[in-house]
Amino acid sequence: MRPFAFARADSVERALECRRGEPTGAFVAGGTTLLDLVKLDVMRPARVIDINALPLKDVERLHDDRLRIGALVTNTDLAYHPDVLADHPLLSQAILAGASSQVRNMATVGGNLMQRTRCPYFRDPTAACNKREPGSGCDALTGVNRMHAVLGGSDRCVAVHPSDMCVALAAIGATLSLQGPNGEREVDVADFHRLPGATPHLEHELGDELIVAVTLAPPLKPLGAAYVKLRDRASYEFALASAGAMLSLDEDLIGEQRLPLGGVATKPWRCHAAEALLAGKRADTAAFEEAADLALADAAPLAHNAFKIPLARQAIVRALRDAARAHREDDT
Ligand code: SF4
Repeated sequence: MRPFAFARADSVERALECRRGEPTGAFVAGGTTLLDLVKLDVMRPARVIDINALPLKDVERLHDDRLRIGALVTNTDLAYHPDVLADHPLLSQAILAGASSQVRNMATVGGNLMQRTRCPYFRDPTAACNKREPGSGCDALTGVNRMHAVLGGSDRCVAVHPSDMCVALAAIGATLSLQGPNGEREVDVADFHRLPGATPHLEHELGDELIVAVTLAPPLKPLGAAYVKLRDRASYEFALASAGAMLSLDEDLIGEQRLPLGGVATKPWRCHAAEALLAGKRADTAAFEEAADLALADAAPLAHNAFKIPLARQAIVRALRDAARAHREDDT
């Protein structure tokens, strides 16, 4: 591991000041991504700034019923927060489907948004990887690409975005508050993560800034929600395919609907066309299968991951069916 300077900040302003003029400087909170990648020599920060003392650990209900979540709220605290369980069950389910309880106890909301891909070539400094080293190539395109993306990829990068939490945020809708040297600005979560295109090393919209909060959109009510994650083993594993579903029903006809995917795309993926197809339809298997087919119509498999398309189809149908059931049970 390479040596780096270390600082502790007790305010957002101080954290930004410590980072100033240090392009490879990195903030650390739970450390569940950064420390791994530093040890692997994939990330090489010249300075690491500990932000755990910042006052960003509260979940607050705003006057318009939205929840504002501090960036240092842990994944565990968020998943079990009574307001999250009541208003946004999909978020709680998605977080609890991720990692292990030990990791969730350490991982934070801000860190989860900044998670790096699990592409094994990215994590191996001897491999060619455009994301790690722009212009070096992509060993995944011709290598073992079983875990890689079938949606949103490019001829430069096909790495999957690894987060479960971000899949739920894509469905719920959220605003990220980013604080930089010139003040605070807001970015819609749908615009935060970038598609790889020709510049896979540019992963998000964060500049010389720190994520300080995530504000969730007002809850959809009444609501049925379900998160289905399919993976190689039952826990402590990243998704091969996951689907979240949020539905409201009126006399068994679908009203509001949200359908995000994880494990198959280069960023948290929202299936807008499939959602539009579901609106007003009877909540039954035929409609769910039709939506799943539309959601995956543009999927482009690589040599080793064609199985992800039927797998994702199953995840979508199950998530929609479970969300409809949850809504009906809630209604009785
Ligand atoms: Fe790197 Fe992306 Fe290729 Fe993986 S898929 S090796 S992250 S460029």
